[in-house]
Amino acid sequence: MSSPKIFLFDFDGVIVDGMHEYWHSSLLACEKYLNSPYISVDQALYKRVPNTFKEIRPWVKYGWEMVLIVHEIIKTENANKDLNKDNFIKNYHQNCQRILKDNSWIAEDLQKILDKSRNYQIDKNFKSWVNLHDPFFEVINFMYELKNKEIKTGIITTKGKVFAEKILKQLNIFPEFIFGYESGTKIKIAEKLTQNYEILGFIEDRKKTLLDIKQNSETSHIPCFLADWGYLKESDRFNLSNEIILINLSNLEELVAI
Ligand SMILES: [Mg+2]
Repeated sequence: MSSPKIFLFDFDGVIVDGMHEYWHSSLLACEKYLNSPYISVDQALYKRVPNTFKEIRPWVKYGWEMVLIVHEIIKTENANKDLNKDNFIKNYHQNCQRILKDNSWIAEDLQKILDKSRNYQIDKNFKSWVNLHDPFFEVINFMYELKNKEIKTGIITTKGKVFAEKILKQLNIFPEFIFGYESGTKIKIAEKLTQNYEILGFIEDRKKTLLDIKQNSETSHIPCFLADWGYLKESDRFNLSNEIILINLSNLEELVAI
């Protein structure tokens, strides 16, 4: 028997735009759980997502980095000046590591408080938490269409599985599986999946992840699509190898017009 066909999706920046939620939940994590002497959280901060945060988001790989970035943006000493975004992203990884060290933080603890902040909101007012996410309806429709064609869908995200699951349920999407950050790296997950599924494609907005998939001999056959509507760095759109295809919301349908 042939393997079941499946289409893989990243979650954030592909299925939903969660920009408001990232800001809100990370800010709440800073306010309620971080105990930092360097910040005082004015409630007005919740109203608007600063451009600096939006501009740094394409560099983010894991949720804990967003807590750290919010802390940098709202630090009292930075209150009247913008965080130097260009310096920050130039050495993004090193900057995150330095800030962790300077504050004696551990990445896992920041991830825990982010999850805690999400759970707090879910308990308190589930609807308003869900409403912080803007779904990309073209993608949702594409997922329904796959279902009609009896093609399965699977989600691989660096978010906590439970949070993606709650939002998808609201959207009436019930994928074959959801793998969150708890399940390890996307490349390892994809490797395992190739043993049981015929993977028709993977839509992701992080170019580096797709490059890793293409460079791994076990997964290099997976058709990789870079979501142009997601959190892309400007440079991501250029110099794409012909193995990674840039797609937009209006040509999703073509992916299964087979
Ligand atoms: Mg993403």
